[in-house]
Amino acid sequence: MFVNTLQNKLRGPCQRSNFHIHAGTGPGTCGAYAIDDVISNYKAVGYTCLCLSNHNLLTDPATFDNRGLNMIPGYEYTSDKHLVCLGAKTMAFDPADTSDEALQKAAETCVSEGGFAILCHPHWPEEWHTGREFLDRTFGFEGIEVFNAATDRDVGAKGRTACMNAQDYLLSRGRLVWGVGSDDFHRWWHLAAGWNMIYADNTPEAIIKALKAGEFYVSSGLRLMDLSIIEDRLHVEVCNPSGYVDEYRYRFVGRHGRLLKTVESASADYMLCGDEGYVRVEVYCPGGNVLLTQPVYDTEFFKENNK
Ligand SMILES: [Zn+2]
Ligand SMILES: [Zn+2]
Repeated sequence: MFVNTLQNKLRGPCQRSNFHIHAGTGPGTCGAYAIDDVISNYKAVGYTCLCLSNHNLLTDPATFDNRGLNMIPGYEYTSDKHLVCLGAKTMAFDPADTSDEALQKAAETCVSEGGFAILCHPHWPEEWHTGREFLDRTFGFEGIEVFNAATDRDVGAKGRTACMNAQDYLLSRGRLVWGVGSDDFHRWWHLAAGWNMIYADNTPEAIIKALKAGEFYVSSGLRLMDLSIIEDRLHVEVCNPSGYVDEYRYRFVGRHGRLLKTVESASADYMLCGDEGYVRVEVYCPGGNVLLTQPVYDTEFFKENNK
């Protein structure tokens, strides 16, 4: 049976969020601007939920003015590989320990404290930097970046799909990890480039619960109008609030990143055969904006193939 995490969810409260921000000018922050300026600008463009995730530095939201936004504590575990620990209460690792086990410990600690761990930019600084062997032996993270405004340009020649290879690899191995969009904000030109639309009330607990359930999608400008399964038909429809174009390119992608179907139209349908394992949808519009859904997934496939 295929599960669509957003079935009948699109009418509920929705939060625009980015959990990957470097801000502040203290040691280790990697930020270039004052926290207050960064939060003010995110608020001005309509975000409702943020996390300051400085490198190996847990930032307590109680220490600054949140300007009415839902600020979730967190940090970016930073070694050879990076991991946003959203909702973390402690940093339980030795920064001098650069082993892969240290990253897993950071992920497990974050999750045990009620948080949500997101593997960052798996294809940066080069494609498959976070390689298949690493992915096979490392657990604990439930999200993986499929859009990162600061690093994706480095794999630009291979196109957007190259940024999603690691997610397809994990999904194809039966590991249900959700795709997350991030600005990885360092400079103003990263602001509001790619975000998550999360169907939840705006509290840290509700946001993290919805993330764990995959009740969100990733966008750089398009809005999801419908994502539904009726009998065996997967139906997707988006709109572009910043333009009047009403034709989009829908790519239905299955196991191992295989392209199952392309549709150029206002909306698109895909008939589920039953042997896909999962199907996720990428939507592009002529202006360059993109929308990435979570996979609709076959519960039997993930039960049988989880390694
Ligand atoms: Zn990073
Ligand atoms: Zn970062």
